[in-house]
Amino acid sequence: MTPPDGTTTNSNVDAMTQTPVVLDGKALAGRMEEDLKERVGTLLARTGRVPVLATILVGTDPASEIYVKMKRNACKRVGMDSRKIALPEEATTGELLDEIGRLNDDSGVCGILLQHPVPAHIDERSCFDRIDLAKDVDGVTCLGFGRMVMNEPAWGSATPAGIITLLDHYGIDVTGKRAVVVGRSPILGKPIAMMLLNKHATVTICHSRTAGLPEIVSTADIVVGALGKPEYIKSDWIRDGAVVIDAGYHKGGIGDIELDGIRERCGAYTPVPGGVGPMTIVTLISQTVASAERLLSE
Ligand code: NAP
Repeated sequence: MTPPDGTTTNSNVDAMTQTPVVLDGKALAGRMEEDLKERVGTLLARTGRVPVLATILVGTDPASEIYVKMKRNACKRVGMDSRKIALPEEATTGELLDEIGRLNDDSGVCGILLQHPVPAHIDERSCFDRIDLAKDVDGVTCLGFGRMVMNEPAWGSATPAGIITLLDHYGIDVTGKRAVVVGRSPILGKPIAMMLLNKHATVTICHSRTAGLPEIVSTADIVVGALGKPEYIKSDWIRDGAVVIDAGYHKGGIGDIELDGIRERCGAYTPVPGGVGPMTIVTLISQTVASAERLLSE
C-alpha cells in the first residue's frame, strides 16, 4: 500500500524480507500540520475564531517547560492560539482544580493540556479528571480512557493515538499480531495496549514486576518500549522482522529500546528522535482543531 504522499509503506508485518521501514513521525507530523493549517483557516473564515489550547504548567521542571513550549510553538505553526497558565510549584490541588474549572467554563478554550507530571503533593488524577471530556484533547481523563476502551467517541491519549496514526499511515495491519507493550502508565502503556487490542492485536502488557521480560519480548511481532529507561530493551531480545516502536527519549538521543543491532533486521522502526515524539505533539494539536470544529459550530 502506498500512502497519498508517496512515502514507502509496509503493508504486511509478515513480509519482512525487504528493507526495514523507517516510521518517520517527523515527516508525517509535518504533513499533518499542513492539513491542520488549512482547517484552522477554514474555521476562522467560517466562525471568525481560531482554536485555543490552554496549557497548564505547575512548577519549573525544565523538561516540562520545554514540552509545553514545543506544544505552544506547534499551535502557532498551524495558526492556532494557545493560552499559557503557569502555576507556582507550591500551588495546591484545590487551586489547580479551580483553574481547570475556569477553563472548562470558558467557551473560548477548545482544549486543555495539563502538563504531566505535576509536583508530587498535587493529586494529579483528580486534576486530570476535572478536565471536561469535550476539552480533554490530551486524552488523560478516566472517562475518556474508558470510552476509548469501549470504542466510544473520546479523544485518545496523545502519544498512543499518535503511534496508531503512524502505524496506520504506513499500512501496518496489527490484526492477529502479537504485540508486547513494556510499560503500563495511564498516559502511555495502558492506552496503547488497549488501542492495539481494539485493532485486533493479541496484546501482552509488561511492567516492572514482569518475570522473564526478554523471553516475552522475543515473541513479539510488535514491540512498544514505554518504560522510561535508556535502551533497557536489548536488540537481541527482538526477533527479525518485528515492528519496533520506541516511545522513550533520553539524553544522547536514545530511546527505551537499543536500536543498534535491530535497525537492519526489523520490519519497521521509529527513529529516536523523530519517531513517536512529533506524533504526540501533532496528535494533541489535531485533536484540539477537531474539538474546535465541534465546539465553535455549536
Ligand atoms: P512512567 O509513568 O514512568 O511508567 C513507566 C512504566 O514502565 C511503568 O508502568 C513501569 O512499571 C514500567 N517499568 C519500569 N521499569 C521497568 C522494567 N525494568 N521492566 C518493565 N517495565 C518497567 O513512564 P511514561 O510516562 O509511561 O513514559 C515512558 C517513556 O515514554 C519515557 O521514556 C517517557 O519519556 C516516554 N514518553 C514519551 C512521550 C513522547 O511524546 N515521545 C510521551 C510520554 C512519555 P510499574 O507500573 O510496575 O511501575
